[in-house]
Amino acid sequence: MELTLNSAVLNVEPSGIRRFTYLVRDTPGACGLTIGEPDLDTPEAVKEAAKAALDSNDTHYPPGNGYPYLLEAISKFEAERHGLHYSPEEIIATVGATESLFVIFSTLLNPGDEVIIPTPAFGLYESIVQLCRGVPVMLPTEKNRFQIDPEALKAAITDKTKAIILTSPNNPTGCIYTKETLDGIHDILLDKPIFVVCDDVYRTLTYTGDYHSFSEYQDMRDRIIIVQSFSKPYAMTGWRLGYCMADAPIRDRLQIFHQNCVTSVPSFVQRACVAALESDTKPVTELFRKRKEYVYKRLVDMGLEVQEPEGAFYMFINIEKYGMDSVTFCTKMLQEGLVGLIPGVYFGTEGYMRLSYCYSDEDLKRGLDRIEAFLKTL
Ligand code: PMP
Repeated sequence: MELTLNSAVLNVEPSGIRRFTYLVRDTPGACGLTIGEPDLDTPEAVKEAAKAALDSNDTHYPPGNGYPYLLEAISKFEAERHGLHYSPEEIIATVGATESLFVIFSTLLNPGDEVIIPTPAFGLYESIVQLCRGVPVMLPTEKNRFQIDPEALKAAITDKTKAIILTSPNNPTGCIYTKETLDGIHDILLDKPIFVVCDDVYRTLTYTGDYHSFSEYQDMRDRIIIVQSFSKPYAMTGWRLGYCMADAPIRDRLQIFHQNCVTSVPSFVQRACVAALESDTKPVTELFRKRKEYVYKRLVDMGLEVQEPEGAFYMFINIEKYGMDSVTFCTKMLQEGLVGLIPGVYFGTEGYMRLSYCYSDEDLKRGLDRIEAFLKTL
């Protein structure tokens, strides 16, 4: 008797990032600059709101898309802070941005539909698209300062293209798309039946006054789906909370997958989400801005080529001159220099490594000192 499983699941490789992070953890004496989450605690007011909800027995099934008060709070927050107008009926609270992504691609894709993923990219995009029986189409950006080249985008589009995912600020580069890039993408996609998934989960962590998201192009509202997360701005990674926003007809289909998948997000955390939306994220952004300046200067002083990030908390460092693939380089640096960074290939781009600056000043200094010492041995 042969037992068979879903071939889409069998074809997805376990996460290389996770494997490498475990390797760093299990290397005696090593320090890692690997994690992709703020090293801060969830704000007190957010925790208090969840505790109060628990104490008031807010522990029953909530409405599938989220309590109306939460959807209203998100709707108001998006309009007032980000100029995005989505009614509560156009929002779904999800289990992190990850569930949003899963719901979106499950809803959009028929087998064989193509999704354009500009690389380097957050690793889950590729596997989620594959699990949803879609075909990831990688669109390299590293030769174009991590901006999407309109000609390359045109060349990547086929009659099977169903969606493109835009991540700004980007994980792993920290780059944001310029207005010019976004205009170019808009001009190409305007008359095409292609969905644009805007993963803007690092939006509050931007270090420039000139941030634009593709979600602003509301003349394409029928094809735009926005993904947001409570994880990064409010140090809530473990709460697993996010949301997506889309034009009502699309949201109506997204909710079917969401409700069949998880029923809803937990009840008593939803008050905490409102408290999070009310909290001031400026001090967090300032903290990461200072770290970014320190890390960037150190890397440049070491002679490393790195584009100064304008958002998120990563740097994507070019290591091509050392003549090794990124896994070989990062493994060697871990074993000999006792410092761990994530190989760029796990984001779909060889010749780079990702540094996270979600670490204290002391840890960053120690990690950077070790990188510097290791480079001198090469
Ligand atoms: N999108 C991007 C670009 C990310 O980097 C991450 C997490 N690292 C996610 C989505 C998923 O976030 P969440 O914790 O909300 O599931």
